[in-house]
Amino acid sequence: MEWNIPSLKDLEHYFWRCTACGTCRVAYDFGPPPFARPICPAGTEYGFEGYYSSKGKAAFARGISDGSLTFDDPDFLEAIYKCTVCGGCQNQCQVDYKPHIPEVIEAMRREAVDQGYGPLPLQKNLVKSMKNYNNPYQGPRRMRLDWTRPFKKAKTPIKNLNKEPAEVLFYVGCTGAFNKTAMAVPQATARIFQKLGIDFGILGESEVCCGSTAMRVGDAEEFKRVATNNLETFQKLHEEKGVKTIVSSCAGCYRAIKKDYILSSEYDKLMDGIEVMHTVQFLHRLMKDGKLKFQNEVPWKVTYHDPCHTGRHLNKFRVDEDGSQLWEGAYVDVDESQCLYDIPREILKAIPGVELVEMERIRGNSFCCGGGGGVMTGFGDWASKNASLRIQEGMESGAEKMISICPFCHYNLNEGSKRIGSTMTLHDLTEILDLALA
Ligand code: SF4
Ligand code: SF4
Repeated sequence: MEWNIPSLKDLEHYFWRCTACGTCRVAYDFGPPPFARPICPAGTEYGFEGYYSSKGKAAFARGISDGSLTFDDPDFLEAIYKCTVCGGCQNQCQVDYKPHIPEVIEAMRREAVDQGYGPLPLQKNLVKSMKNYNNPYQGPRRMRLDWTRPFKKAKTPIKNLNKEPAEVLFYVGCTGAFNKTAMAVPQATARIFQKLGIDFGILGESEVCCGSTAMRVGDAEEFKRVATNNLETFQKLHEEKGVKTIVSSCAGCYRAIKKDYILSSEYDKLMDGIEVMHTVQFLHRLMKDGKLKFQNEVPWKVTYHDPCHTGRHLNKFRVDEDGSQLWEGAYVDVDESQCLYDIPREILKAIPGVELVEMERIRGNSFCCGGGGGVMTGFGDWASKNASLRIQEGMESGAEKMISICPFCHYNLNEGSKRIGSTMTLHDLTEILDLALA
């Protein structure tokens, strides 16, 4: 299977466009910012934003490509990995063609891995675990089913798609399966599916990591290994077990399948007839069709955290290709139709008793939880510190609880809350939905 993953050289025409203007430092909508909160977790933590945030990263890319910077400097290597690849900078940048900073950062990491320097030592363990166990958490394969214990106990077992057919594959993902806090996410998802009578199944012990973490830290080979395996499995499940829809409650897995897997030359062929959806899209469709109705009141005052992977990672920038709108190459607009901004909010507003209040940085301006891009593994203290900043913003909104749609954000934001002794807890949208259903 061929993979069209760009090299740093392929992205040269992007990173030379960064003018080092610094616009990407703050969260703002078009026009003078009504508030000026930072958007870059790396720049926020390490202060010298020219070094650690996007314009610094663009300068690194230039230095690597002209040979003046090399990965044998440990501080330089570490700086490349001090980025959550949240895409916040890219969203704010108004420069023509857009410098595609997150793609450039990941390409630099791939270059570091190819030259034998990257990723960072702790992240190397993560990739080693993927090779050994098909998950980044060093968990034996049988532990992948730990989250299903309450279902066995309640004698409401979940179908194993290796043995029985089902229309829907619930692709659980490693964080939901192995992280004890985040296990609440697949458990709530499966409970909802059972309550609604959805014909779904899981792969259990044979599920393989989506590869997102490997890709984010620059190990393209490991990504390709697991992604190829998954694409072939998906096709087999479609042909032999009747799977028509793949549903994931994990923002990282969803993004990987939607955006990284399409880099495969075989994607269209192998995914023909299969729809990939985030759980909230799947449930939103049922809600619109009148098949999801809420019976219980949930008297929660909540705020919603947009994960980067279901938000701006999925946007598309429109550029004036032929000069007919402004001038050739002018950045003219952003297409956010693939971003899951409205769907979770519409579901929340439909739950009786729920009051939704918004934080200042939302949707494309969302402030990353701090856990992505290998940061939770490489810089755990920074990840939870950043999460505590987001929790503080949630508390300022007047909400009692924060809701999101990602097991990774679930874990990290709850860690951030504990760190500052906050009473605010992070819950997945599936958890609150589960409470609202009889
Ligand atoms: S990435 Fe864009 S907004 Fe940021 S410094 Fe470069 S040109 Fe300016
Ligand atoms: S991707 Fe996010 S963390 Fe990385 S430089 Fe851009 S805003 Fe900062």
